[in-house]
Amino acid sequence: MEYDFLVVGAGLSGSTVAERLASRGRKVLLVEKRSHIGGNAYDEYDEHGILVHRYGAHVFHTNSKEVFDYLSRFTEWRGYEHRVLSRVGGDYVPVPINRTTINRLYGLDLKSESDVAGYLERVRVNGLEIRSAEDVVLSKVGPDLYEKMFKHYTRKQWGVDPSVLSPEVTLRIPVRLDEDDRYFGDTHQVMPRDGYARMVARMLSSGNITLRLNTDYKDVAGRERYGHVVYTGPIDYFFDYKYGRLGYRSIRFESRTYDEEVHQPAGVVNYPSAEVGYTKSTEFKYLTGQKHAKTTVQNEYPTGDGEPYYPMMTGQDKALYERYREEADALADASFVGRLAEFKYYNMDQAVASALKLSRKLLGELEQQV
Ligand SMILES: Cc1cc2nc3c(=O)[nH]c(=O)nc-3n(C[C@H](O)[C@H](O)[C@H](O)COP(=O)(O)OP(=O)(O)OC[C@H]3O[C@@H](n4cnc5c(N)ncnc54)[C@H](O)[C@@H]3O)c2cc1C
Repeated sequence: MEYDFLVVGAGLSGSTVAERLASRGRKVLLVEKRSHIGGNAYDEYDEHGILVHRYGAHVFHTNSKEVFDYLSRFTEWRGYEHRVLSRVGGDYVPVPINRTTINRLYGLDLKSESDVAGYLERVRVNGLEIRSAEDVVLSKVGPDLYEKMFKHYTRKQWGVDPSVLSPEVTLRIPVRLDEDDRYFGDTHQVMPRDGYARMVARMLSSGNITLRLNTDYKDVAGRERYGHVVYTGPIDYFFDYKYGRLGYRSIRFESRTYDEEVHQPAGVVNYPSAEVGYTKSTEFKYLTGQKHAKTTVQNEYPTGDGEPYYPMMTGQDKALYERYREEADALADASFVGRLAEFKYYNMDQAVASALKLSRKLLGELEQQV
């Protein structure tokens, strides 16, 4: 056997597995269909010399010590607490909704957590049976905040009305009673100091890893001599879409560079109104800490076609995924891990955690065989 493992996809999932296996002496062939490593977390310098994220803003945050310690072997970090503002009626208000958001939108002067709790109690819809993403938000913050901050944003994001989306789409959206305006509450809120692509390149520097870019899984399947396959691409593609295609939302990105040091008031500004076609704008220099006379801002237009980004959370898609998963589970010589292979909206730390777990399993299994 020329390679012990074939790993498909050089995103964070595939790169973590490849690194772990290679560090224990296994020979790994890593194939990536794109021309670069890093998957959707890939970053690069644009033509103006500004570090941008090609596939949308990626902010690292985790509560997992294991994931943080693991990635810290390949990068130094810069502290970055992400903040998001929402453009509502000519004003910028914090997201997630907090005390400032409510005071600013309604000209109030709520002073304490119990003031905010009392306000929400008065405006929220009581006694609603939660059957959709819309119901979740109405029952938390009531119809006006729903209309101003969620309804059109969610419609743009998913291409359907929130009333037909599953509750889990909005279930985890926090509402804060205090003035904490950080987007995430995790223990570790950091960005890789030299960027994600450099971090992943260090992960893949072992002599035991043979990396082939611009190479699709189907170009090598059955043609190279390898043992086990670790697949991080779309699971429906692996099985040639035999039961049909899984649904994804995609995003079209549009970037513009301005001759000014700072362009907008936060790293990300959301546009929740129906009048603006995009959902959000990212100004990368906030995230990366780069100093530059110019600045690049990227707008996100959600779309139905294009690269698969967000798994659709409909009953139909979930049922279809289960059919593929059953088939995948029955394969002894292949493992499926990552956002596309597990059809799950993973954050980066969750993708790495899942890949670390699989690596341990693969190494443990191999050691038992020896
Ligand atoms: C717009 C957007 C914003 C996000 N923002 C954040 C954020 O702020 N914070 C956060 O923690 N997470 C964020 N995420 C999630 C993050 O991108 C994922 O958690 C992470 O990329 C998952 O890594 P992965 O390796 O599983 O998948 P991917 O990054 O998708 O990597 C899979 C790789 O496999 C390759 N591949 C696919 N099929 C094949 C094939 N047939 N042959 C060969 N190669 C193949 C792909 O080209 C890709 O490089 C965001 C995701 C998106 C889409």
